[in-house]
Amino acid sequence: MFRIKLNWLKSLLEDLVGLIYPNICQFCEKEIATTKEGYVCKRCKNNIKHIEPPFCERCGKPFSGSITVRFICADCKISKIYFDHARSAVEYEGIIKKAVHLYKYRSALWIEPMLADILITTVQKDLNPDEWDSIIPVPLHFVKYYERGFNQAERLSNFISKATKIPVNKKVLKRIKYTETQTTRDRTKRSENVKNAFAVKDKIGWLKGKKIILIDDVMTTGSTVNECSRMLRRAGVAKIDVWTFARG
Ligand SMILES: [Zn+2]
Ligand SMILES: [Zn+2]
Repeated sequence: MFRIKLNWLKSLLEDLVGLIYPNICQFCEKEIATTKEGYVCKRCKNNIKHIEPPFCERCGKPFSGSITVRFICADCKISKIYFDHARSAVEYEGIIKKAVHLYKYRSALWIEPMLADILITTVQKDLNPDEWDSIIPVPLHFVKYYERGFNQAERLSNFISKATKIPVNKKVLKRIKYTETQTTRDRTKRSENVKNAFAVKDKIGWLKGKKIILIDDVMTTGSTVNECSRMLRRAGVAKIDVWTFARG
C-alpha cells in the first residue's frame, strides 16, 4: 500500500516537474525526452563520444587514428607525472560539455543521474575494486564549495563508491588556495595556477602505502589531478589511478 502511494506521489511529482521542464530534450530542444530519460533524447545520447582505445597508456588521452600497440603520448613523455594512470568515460564536447556546465555552474542536479550512469558503466568495465583502498575526490576550496553548494567530484565519488564498495575519504586532501577557473589557460599556466593549491591533512600517516583512486569531473591538461597526486605521493601513497567523467 505504502509502495503504491509512493509510486503515485512520484508520478505526480514527475508531472509537476513536466510543467516546469516540458518533456523535451534539454540539449537539442527538439526531440521528446522524459524525466525518466533524464531529458536527453536518444539521438543526443547516441552522439556522446565514449572513450575507447587507442588512448595513451598513461594519461588516457584519446588518439584519433588507428594504432594497435600500447603507447605513451608526447605530453606524458616530457612531463613529470605523479599518478599511475588516468582514465575518463567520455570526451568533453557536444552535449557532455553543456551537461557539465549546467551541472556545475547552474546546479542542474537533474543531469547527475545521467553523468553518474555513464561514469559507473565505464568504471565497472575497467576497475577491479579489490586493488584499491580508498576513493579521494579532488577537493574544492571552501569558498567555492559554499558558492556552488556542492563538490561535483565528491558527488561522483559517492556514486562510484556505491557501485564498487570502495570507501571515500574526503578528509585527507584539502584545497588551500583559491584558484580562478582554468578553462582559458594553457598547459604551463594551468600547472602554475594549481601549484601548491592542495595540502594533505594526515597526522596519523593513514595514506602511507595506500592505493588511491582520485576522482574529478573533467580532466583537460591534467594539471589539477597531477598536483593532487604530487601531494599524495609525498604523503606516501603507493598507487594512484585517476578517474574523471570527461576528458578535454
Ligand atoms: Zn536531443
Ligand atoms: Zn599521455
